[in-house]
Amino acid sequence: MTKTINNVVIAGGGTAGWMAAAAFTKLLGNNVSVTLVESDDIGTVGVGEATIPPIKTFHKLLGINEQELMRATQATFKLGIQFENWGQQGDSYIHSFGVTGKECWAGEFHHFWLHGLRKGICAEFGEYCYELQAAKANKFALSNTTPINYAYHLDASLYAKFLRSFSENLGATRIEGKINSVNKHNDTGDIASLTLDSGQTIEGDFFIDCTGFKGLLIEQALHTGFDDWSHYLPCDSAVAVQTKSVSAPIPYTRSIARNSGWQWKIPLQSRVGNGLVFCSKYCSDEEAISTLMANIDGEALTEPRVIKFNTGKRRKGWNKNCVALGLSSGFIEPLESTSIHLIMSGIIRLLRLFPFEGIEPSAVAEYNSKSDSELNAVRDFIVLHYKATQRNDSEFWQHCKNMEVPPSLSHKIKLFKETGRVFLDDGDIFRVDSWTQVMLGQGIMPSQYHKIANIMSDQELHNFMQSIKSSIANAVEKLPSHAEFIQHYCKSQDASLSENQLDAKYEVES
Ligand code: FAD
Repeated sequence: MTKTINNVVIAGGGTAGWMAAAAFTKLLGNNVSVTLVESDDIGTVGVGEATIPPIKTFHKLLGINEQELMRATQATFKLGIQFENWGQQGDSYIHSFGVTGKECWAGEFHHFWLHGLRKGICAEFGEYCYELQAAKANKFALSNTTPINYAYHLDASLYAKFLRSFSENLGATRIEGKINSVNKHNDTGDIASLTLDSGQTIEGDFFIDCTGFKGLLIEQALHTGFDDWSHYLPCDSAVAVQTKSVSAPIPYTRSIARNSGWQWKIPLQSRVGNGLVFCSKYCSDEEAISTLMANIDGEALTEPRVIKFNTGKRRKGWNKNCVALGLSSGFIEPLESTSIHLIMSGIIRLLRLFPFEGIEPSAVAEYNSKSDSELNAVRDFIVLHYKATQRNDSEFWQHCKNMEVPPSLSHKIKLFKETGRVFLDDGDIFRVDSWTQVMLGQGIMPSQYHKIANIMSDQELHNFMQSIKSSIANAVEKLPSHAEFIQHYCKSQDASLSENQLDAKYEVES
């Protein structure tokens, strides 16, 4: 048993640092003091604007008001991601956050759909998902009677700013300055303190490394080691640029496959975040910049900025008296917007295991093994998108199609292809629905399905399918446009939404 933990020091004030500070100050109360060190000179990575639905739970835990947060961060609603050109050039499908159809005890909805498809009595899979149809119609509303599953697109730097003021109001201390050295205890090798360029030393019992890719504490001081996953995920670079909005924001992210990677478009109230993730083996920085700039819609508001990254994870997220969160803990590219989620789940896991009375190896082992399962599952889901391509038109896509993938993923693909079944692994943050949408979306069609689907006569199946489809269509019909809902619910003062982007009158349901 080591010493009790009273002082937590967070190194770094990007999204990870301020999310951690907000959660620690709010949820651990007076049990610990929280100090955060960050350097304005170094700045943050400045990207990371699309999220997934569990972020709402995090905000609820913290008691954050959604409308206030959305106004402050120029946020829009996100119902999923539209993948364009991924299976083949010209293809498009939406991985949405909603449930497709209705499940029964023996099999998921897609078995009924596959059965109906063979009989010619089913529409497209996406027609049976409310969120997906709302996304396609560019509509959105919150309602108690027809719940909708969603996340946000938000401005990353405004999000950190919002969480900073939230944390400081709850007693977090912020110290501005550049960390010059990380000092360790001679006997244990634990981190003892951080010394800043100014000479100031900040002591702590427990340290959270949120210093970004460099991992100042977890790697440079503790030499934790890194598992490289670039053989599974070959993209190692991105170029990002912000543009003026030229139309009302859509309620989904666009992910458009290009020759040597893919482009994102993330609509905020005030602007659009754009970027191209690419593989430097097949595409130079200059080519990437020109591809991106040729495929943006509005005037550029920033200079295009290249960001280099290594895909993989720290061998241990928790090492000695230090936990790494955010980019310092590893990075899986942003294709399914998982990084902010992984920060959140790391924080919650740490809070649940928090070593008030001293660090026990069992708690460290539990943290690391749960984090590993979660990261492995996210990695597999992202690799799926690349592996399940039929594209042959560039060296990059040929490589992806033929590359070796983790055995856990090959098994999942084979199981779906051969039997239509999907089972989740430990740590899977994506549901069966997500796996099914992406596999079907990218052209993996099962050769079998669960025969539970045969319990309905053709007429019953037709009626079942039709009733789901028409109730979704009716519900979507009644929704206001996404822009209009934002206007009433959470319009930011700096939003570029104009009156002519609103197409109907709508009252927010109380
Ligand atoms: P950073 O933002 O890099 O912050 C590091 C902090 O450490 C800064 O405050 C810096 O000042 C401080 N610091 C560093 N060194 C020192 C020092 N010596 N002294 C003092 N302070 C120091 N995630 C998503 O969930 N959705 C997305 O859509 C998404 N898109 C992405 C796109 C790209 C191209 C990339 C690269 C990442 C994306 N991410 C996304 C990931 C997301 O950006 C990060 O997970 C998130 O921003 C957290 O970053 P961070 O706080 O760990 O690091």
